[in-house]
Amino acid sequence: MAVSFSLPPALHASHAGIWLADESGEVITLGRGQALARATDTPLLLVNAPLLGSRLSHPDLSGLDLLELFAFLFPAQFVIPTVAGLARAMGMKAPDSDAEAVRIIPALAREMLDWAEREDWAEREGAWTSLKQMERLRWAWVPLLRNRIAQPREAERWLFSRLPQWEEQPPRPQPRPVVLDENEILGRLGALTGRGAEARVGQRDFARAASVAFDPRPGKEMPNMLLAEAGTGIGKTLGYLAPATLWAEQSGGTVWISTYTKALQRQLDRETRRHYPSDAAFRKHVVIRKGRENYLCLLNLEDALQGGFSGRAAILAQFVARWAAYTRDGDMVGGDLPGWLPALFRRAGATALTDRRGECIYAGCPHFRTCFIERATRASQDADIVIANHALVMINAARGRETQGQPTRIVFDEGHHLFDAADSTFGAALTGREAIELRRWIMGPETEKRGRRRGLAARLSDVASYDADGAEAIDDAREAARALPGDDWLRRVVEHGPNGAIEELLSVVRATVYARAERDGKDADPGYGLEVDLAEVDGDLIDAATAGAAALEALLSPLQRLTKRLVAVIEQAPDWLDAPARARIDGAISALGWRCDLLMSWIALLLRVGGTPDPDFVDWLAVERAEGREFDIGLHRHWLDPTRPLAEVVLRPAHGVLVTSATLRAGGDTQTAAQRSGATHLPMPPRWFDVASPFDYANQSEVLIVTDLKRGDLPALAGAYARLIEAAGGGTLGLFTAIRRLRSVQARIADRLARAGLPLYAQHVDPLDPATLIDMFRDDPRASLLGTDALRDGIDVPGESLRLVVMEGVPWTKPSVLNAARRRASESPTAYDDRAVRARLAQAFGRLIRRADDAGQFVILSSAMPSRLLSAFPPDVPILRLPLDEATERVRSRLGSRVNLGQEAPESSGGVQSLE
Ligand code: SF4
Repeated sequence: MAVSFSLPPALHASHAGIWLADESGEVITLGRGQALARATDTPLLLVNAPLLGSRLSHPDLSGLDLLELFAFLFPAQFVIPTVAGLARAMGMKAPDSDAEAVRIIPALAREMLDWAEREDWAEREGAWTSLKQMERLRWAWVPLLRNRIAQPREAERWLFSRLPQWEEQPPRPQPRPVVLDENEILGRLGALTGRGAEARVGQRDFARAASVAFDPRPGKEMPNMLLAEAGTGIGKTLGYLAPATLWAEQSGGTVWISTYTKALQRQLDRETRRHYPSDAAFRKHVVIRKGRENYLCLLNLEDALQGGFSGRAAILAQFVARWAAYTRDGDMVGGDLPGWLPALFRRAGATALTDRRGECIYAGCPHFRTCFIERATRASQDADIVIANHALVMINAARGRETQGQPTRIVFDEGHHLFDAADSTFGAALTGREAIELRRWIMGPETEKRGRRRGLAARLSDVASYDADGAEAIDDAREAARALPGDDWLRRVVEHGPNGAIEELLSVVRATVYARAERDGKDADPGYGLEVDLAEVDGDLIDAATAGAAALEALLSPLQRLTKRLVAVIEQAPDWLDAPARARIDGAISALGWRCDLLMSWIALLLRVGGTPDPDFVDWLAVERAEGREFDIGLHRHWLDPTRPLAEVVLRPAHGVLVTSATLRAGGDTQTAAQRSGATHLPMPPRWFDVASPFDYANQSEVLIVTDLKRGDLPALAGAYARLIEAAGGGTLGLFTAIRRLRSVQARIADRLARAGLPLYAQHVDPLDPATLIDMFRDDPRASLLGTDALRDGIDVPGESLRLVVMEGVPWTKPSVLNAARRRASESPTAYDDRAVRARLAQAFGRLIRRADDAGQFVILSSAMPSRLLSAFPPDVPILRLPLDEATERVRSRLGSRVNLGQEAPESSGGVQSLE
């Protein structure tokens, strides 16, 4: 039976004001000072403390956050982190005003607390034990939950004994050669799209064409490669899933589907379920793979639960432990751990729970058989479909860690990003942050800091104890690693004087960058990084690089010796080498392998300083800065054409590759598509397929180019955004090329829009990850979202919620050293720039119309938009150049009416009294 109890008042704030509700439902408005005083006096009920804190300019605001209660009660369940989101999740009516929002918070809290007493609470197991731990940590909700969660009759199982173990499977035979039958492909497509679904000619053509990627290849290192541009709305995901699932079943092989954005990964997760509808079938046949740094490391969690974390981080560890018992796959970054949960704890501790630093001890770990990472790795060897991302596919291929599961049939969706993904994967960076990670991996803990860090000696303790040569190599490596930057390296390099060869080098790099960087206009803004070509360097830098290279050689040598020794130990199989030790050493050999590769790439980079430039590479020096502070310094090397290593390590070994995208030409032509996907480096030319979007762009959309906005006039830019968002009634995605301008516009317009009942969210301002911001934007058709690059291509919001895209100007390419080198190397630098801009415009425009019944407008706030770039848009889209007044009117007349613009701004409250 529900216990009678009282709750503290509830606090809510938006850009429009601050509201407080007591339990009787009476709502008052408050000033900021009063709200903070009330919140300091007593913990108030609230939703999303960090977001509320940012609205009140008090980032440390805390209280009884209903999101924490939700995460405790319903681990691994999705909810939009707003009052409306929670209300819907709890089956209550979502509020339609701020005053209503604050009024229902106490009712929501009661509804949630009542769940803890319900017989049908599915996530009860583990809650009592967890609450006991939380009591010790003084979690704010404990007093309200204590009497509601009954002690179970039998002791609850410890998390680590509840998780399922993975089973080792025999190696899979190689896939049988299969040529897919066209009728079967179309039959499978029909089954995927569903009975009665409209037959889409373009989709059927696409599915037929895609099958070529699954044919037996004609020769060694001659993969069947298809480049397929399929306009938005074709249904290309199901189009390639039809032949892919069919081939996997008939051949007994695995198809890897690689994406660039998490949004597409989520879509694939949903769409593959059409063929594997039951949970059991889905788990057996489909695996979602991410980089290992995304997954919870159970050993790190155990350490955190046993005192490794303190304060709020320790409470977060308890939430993660609750979630770990219910999660589908242990993915902490894009999986079922709510993206807002780490933000509630100001990210304290979240990254320390993953295997970010490569400290895994493999079979030496007590949780090896339940480890999420190991489970996903093994499952992918037997799966029909592995959904991964471009970086993971490339890293696995480059490091050769999973020869068993090396992809041979690959679909690269969002293929227009292959070039960028290869660019970062195959680039090298010798920076302070990278180098200190290597030092920590070798040395282990050097100070009494939080966490379970282990060095080489601890990870290979049996080798260190029983094998003299191995022990000597470990000691030598530890000694040589002292030349790498240590804790506090940045402060020493900037202020006190460097320590060791690599810190010395970074100090000279920094001095060179500040001496040579051309800083005028926006580059003078300390919010931006600085970089200079690695060319015509002076004696100091050459000397520092030579000394740095010698120090790295001195480290490489014992690591290579150790690798050889470990290989010999495996071969000799001494008495002490039991199965766990063997697995641990196998893991260490692989980890040492890629760290030796890393060291060699750094040495090559340093030996190049002062020498003859290598025309295949672009080298530069950089000081990274954000929010006015330096955070990294180093030397960088990228391939001039990163599709060369892509072709070498990923494409050539494959048997079939499909590269597809709605914008595969990337602002150029089919030759551009071939060049940017690596196809031009293969012995056999790729095939090309394209199919246009079925959308009626001429009637569904238009492009408006605003002609009367003065460049650089920030107040005018902000005013234009505000007017357009008001005219559209929200539903606007605002895209910026500079964070500084985004923040400035947001600060100027957020209050004004909020007063009109139009919420505004902003990347780089609101303390939430982009995926959560997109969820909040999608959830409210009156909301708008401002963002930068990540949102230009990673957002899929069909329907009413996104009906207007506003770009602050022409998205020219950032003038970096790397970009300048590629521009110089191209046949026509102007054509190179134009192609890049057209690609960005096409991607941004692609956000607008996602379904046949979508409609929207695309506004560019720049009269300097050259006509030659307008071919970025679909050919029949009307394009108008007009002043802001007219553009606003067009938006109002076309879009505003769709969302009841006649509605007044939401009232604060019926019975609201003001205290000020
Ligand atoms: S096997 Fe490695 S990643 Fe997995 S839990 Fe153990 S240490 Fe962490």
